[in-house]
Amino acid sequence: MEKIIIIGGGAAGFFTAINAKENNPNLDITILEKGKNVLQKVKISGGGRCNVTHACFVPKELCEFYPRGKKELLGPFHQFMTGDTFEWFEHKGVPLKIEDDNRVFPEANTSQAIIDCFQNAVDNLGIKVFINCGVNEVYQQENKWVINTKNQQFLADKVVFAAGSSKKVWELCKTLKHFILEPVPSLFTFNIKDKRLVDLLGISVPNATVKIISTKLEASGPLLITHWGMSGPAVLKLSAFGARILADKKYQYNVEVNWLSRPTDKVLNVLLNLKKKEPRKTVILKSPFVEISKRLWERFVLFSEIKATQNWADVKNNQLEKLANQLTKGIFNANGRTTFKDEFVTAGGIDLKEINFKTFESKLHSNLYFVGEILNIDAVTGGFNFQNAWTGGYICAKALSEV
Ligand SMILES: Cc1cc2nc3c(=O)[nH]c(=O)nc-3n(C[C@H](O)[C@H](O)[C@H](O)COP(=O)(O)OP(=O)(O)OC[C@H]3O[C@@H](n4cnc5c(N)ncnc54)[C@H](O)[C@@H]3O)c2cc1C
Repeated sequence: MEKIIIIGGGAAGFFTAINAKENNPNLDITILEKGKNVLQKVKISGGGRCNVTHACFVPKELCEFYPRGKKELLGPFHQFMTGDTFEWFEHKGVPLKIEDDNRVFPEANTSQAIIDCFQNAVDNLGIKVFINCGVNEVYQQENKWVINTKNQQFLADKVVFAAGSSKKVWELCKTLKHFILEPVPSLFTFNIKDKRLVDLLGISVPNATVKIISTKLEASGPLLITHWGMSGPAVLKLSAFGARILADKKYQYNVEVNWLSRPTDKVLNVLLNLKKKEPRKTVILKSPFVEISKRLWERFVLFSEIKATQNWADVKNNQLEKLANQLTKGIFNANGRTTFKDEFVTAGGIDLKEINFKTFESKLHSNLYFVGEILNIDAVTGGFNFQNAWTGGYICAKALSEV
């Protein structure tokens, strides 16, 4: 009987084990989990609801959400896609639902539904799960893999690393001659202290364009003013795609915000037209842009040195230019980052060049596999990180079961 050890009792580890055993009931599979509980990240994921995947059903489009892994995941997504995730969980009695922003959750609205599903499956299939079993050494001896924990030694024919973002396990992988891209945080919000944002906590715009000055980094989408600075999908996307560059800058950089995602001259034209059409009206009283709330508008008007009492007719053209610039080219100084509450991941991990993506097997060692976040793959927020775990787990399981 072929013996398989899976290191890590998280999303990727369970998904791999269940699929492998379903494909080939003769496999002897053991999951070794360091913690006293398995699936802890699944439990807290998506605010306790588990954002299982994303309603994007075209592999090429799905890849675009992965700053790291975009190229490598295209092939795997052709084998196991988001639609397959729906089917897989439905088949296990856990129907999923799509929310307005295309994020996908269990209909039961709790991550416990996913945990129960996995627990039932491993129990029914006879997969062994050992908790408090942190692996600290893995090496090859003759034709076997030797896996050491503090108190026990395991021998296996095949080993799957599914230990997530664990510095210790990455160090261990270095002993197997694998190259690790140094881990840096991804998915964070920008710390910005700026008078223009004071007391505007909770105000958002539906489609801003945010650029990191002196880089090519740019992202559009909803932008939210927070207690610490700026957040929302546009900022999170930038933090993911710029994870390494922003880490190199020690999280100190300038951002340019176009709150309307419109060209400056078009915005200036709107303002000049108002000057002509509504000369007697007070500028500060009403935002001419539906996207800009009254309080945000007031702030931009005052910061463009337009007085609270001024009518459109009294405003000089250079003041309107200042206002158009505030709306479309505002520069803010970011200093530091804050971890995003809902979903944080690490950029970095096993070098993707060392993985065969047809099987998720190491190119350096036969019978050694890597799935999930341990790889240098990560995505923006929205269910993509779990999809990486499901896709890798499914394909690896197929390879494991072909004895
Ligand atoms: C707060 C939060 C919310 C999130 N929400 C979402 C979401 O809604 N949707 C989404 O797509 N992604 C989300 N993510 C990201 C997602 O959780 C991860 O991408 C995913 O869990 C990765 O799965 P994994 O199995 O590779 O790693 P993990 O789930 O981290 O599992 C790895 C397991 O390995 C164990 N381990 C580590 N070292 C050892 C060792 N030496 N020996 C044995 N075991 C070891 C760990 O204890 C852990 O149980 C969230 C992340 C966080 C932190």
